[in-house]
Amino acid sequence: MTTSRQIKKLDEAVINRIAAGEIIRRPSNALKELLENSLDAGATNIQILIKDGGLKLLQIQDNGHGIRKEDMAIVCERFTTSKIETFEDLSCISTYGFRGEALASITHVAHVTITTKTADSNCAYRAHYADSKLVPPKPGVSAEPKPCAGNTGTLITAEDLFYNAPTRREALKNTSEEYKRILDVVNRYAIYNAGQGSNIADVSTLANASTLDNIRQIYGSSTASELLELKKDVEGLDLKVKGYVSNANYNVKKIVFLLFINHRAVESLALKKTIESVYATFLPKGTHPFIYIGLEMKPQNIDVNVHTTKREVRFLYEDEIIAAIGDVIHERLAGADTSRSFLTQT
Ligand code: ADP
Ligand code: MG
Repeated sequence: MTTSRQIKKLDEAVINRIAAGEIIRRPSNALKELLENSLDAGATNIQILIKDGGLKLLQIQDNGHGIRKEDMAIVCERFTTSKIETFEDLSCISTYGFRGEALASITHVAHVTITTKTADSNCAYRAHYADSKLVPPKPGVSAEPKPCAGNTGTLITAEDLFYNAPTRREALKNTSEEYKRILDVVNRYAIYNAGQGSNIADVSTLANASTLDNIRQIYGSSTASELLELKKDVEGLDLKVKGYVSNANYNVKKIVFLLFINHRAVESLALKKTIESVYATFLPKGTHPFIYIGLEMKPQNIDVNVHTTKREVRFLYEDEIIAAIGDVIHERLAGADTSRSFLTQT
């Protein structure tokens, strides 16, 4: 027989670490948050450095607006954000972040250093963080942000991810798998944000490149040369569809599905299924297309207030919107087919 045990409140540090582990499950989650912060800061150039699949080091440098020195003491605290002020602001949000949880979470599971400079400051400042607070870089010195040289923008490093969560670390020991996931996040944003340069060991896009240039750079010219452009305003649904999808001559073993809704990389299993069924009539059995789609819809129609790691989105008029996108792609594929048979007849 078991006896009833006394109920105790968990230690603050334990609560924080558990909460952080929900938001940052693996290195690619942390990288996505950092990358989105850089984009929110208006960065046009982003450099990324990864060691051991991000477990040893995640480093991201941007040329965005930087963080003011006065804000450096609280920037890594939970629920501190410069992006919204009221609950109502949520309905018209245009930034990636808004909950002010990402940096805080990362400091609970990694050693974080921020070096940042705003345009109107004479110098950059560097500070170290643990458990959402400023900490001295070594014992006996001040934890206050220290002036240093630097360009306008922000450099953030997160070292030894999950150093304090040995079971999580053990579960992530396949560093090449983690690196692949990071690359996937970077690839998606590189394509969507064509025109801005970005750089990670294996992905490097040029500042003036087009979307198609970036697809060619990342997925190869055999993919880029078989794409049909999508561009359509769907009346009545307040929906703008743009993107590139592969034609009926192209197929791969596994679908490549890059989806953005209002500039955010997301997943939608329902949309993926519909697109696969459209292609089923055009492609050989067991083969799949390349799909890159960016959707823009009224922010009011999307539920953004979901858990940070939930990439799967929910939106209003989902069935109608998904059917409409299926139709747009079907029309494009069928149209491309006609022009081909027309060519062979002449
Ligand atoms: P959120 O993005 O939800 O606001 P974060 O924890 O990701 O929360 O970031 C907290 C705040 O730190 C942001 O609101 C922003 O003001 C600032 N910040 C974070 N990263 C950057 C960056 N790369 N450049 C400028 N400011 C940043
Ligand atoms: Mg953020």
